[in-house]
Amino acid sequence: MKHKDNDNNKKISFVPKTHPRYKSLLNREKVVEALDKGILAKAGLTAHGRGEAFDYLIGEKTTDIALKSIKASAAMLVLAENPVISINGNTIALAKDEIVQLAEELNGKIEVNLFYRTKEREENIKKAFEEDLTIKEKLNNNKIKLLGLNDANRQIPNLDSLRGKVSEKGIYSADVVLVPLEDGDRTEALVNMGKKVISIDLNPLSRTARKSTITIVDEITRCIPLLTKYVKEYKKMDKKALKNIVDNYDNKENLKEMLNYISNRLKTMDLG
Ligand code: ATP
Repeated sequence: MKHKDNDNNKKISFVPKTHPRYKSLLNREKVVEALDKGILAKAGLTAHGRGEAFDYLIGEKTTDIALKSIKASAAMLVLAENPVISINGNTIALAKDEIVQLAEELNGKIEVNLFYRTKEREENIKKAFEEDLTIKEKLNNNKIKLLGLNDANRQIPNLDSLRGKVSEKGIYSADVVLVPLEDGDRTEALVNMGKKVISIDLNPLSRTARKSTITIVDEITRCIPLLTKYVKEYKKMDKKALKNIVDNYDNKENLKEMLNYISNRLKTMDLG
């Protein structure tokens, strides 16, 4: 059974909506499509698989533990002076529209930051944003800014040259960087630059998860809309209350809670 996917490209999906693993299979289609379009590197497929495995352990839903990280992240982003959303191939494949919506609620800054950076991939990513007319209009009106393509002239210290390239107006000068699906090295390098790093990573054991200021252990397409919802809500709150939310958050504690949650879930699982 075929049906139309409801994304902007009106792509035909071969996954029946009634399939019990519909959402997961649709995400798989999206990453494969991004690979075909030259947006995603092959290694991005294995990174996706690792995420899927952890999502099984978590139960494929946003836990209350992740919700605490989401709220702390929203508060941190609203308080930030120069927040930047870093995106890579996997993020674009799965959550391009959701990222655009979040950026619009902030200062509009989205920076392309690729592990496997090639000119061709950069061009393909630019095309993926511009061929969506709604996004193109937002780029033209400066509601969102796509950085890191022609302006990645600065270098993150202690990272090899290609992976460390960033934009002066973007990640280089940011105080808070949201890095969905990032690798540990870069997260650590950004923290060492004095930045607050918010990561989204289904693996609570990854170096990214452990090095970040705040780690959201949740699936990207589930948590970005929630993050946007809380950003909208928190923009109406006073700064002191937001600072309280951030100050009361402890990332190590949150990761421990998540590991306990997974462990208890597995111990008490009904396999019938
Ligand atoms: P690290 O270098 O931080 O130890 P890593 O080697 O796993 O971790 P990557 O290979 O860059 O780093 O993997 C990216 C991470 O993204 C993986 O840990 C995976 O769990 C996570 N991930 C993959 N898909 C998703 C998704 N859809 N939502 C959230 N996280 C995801």
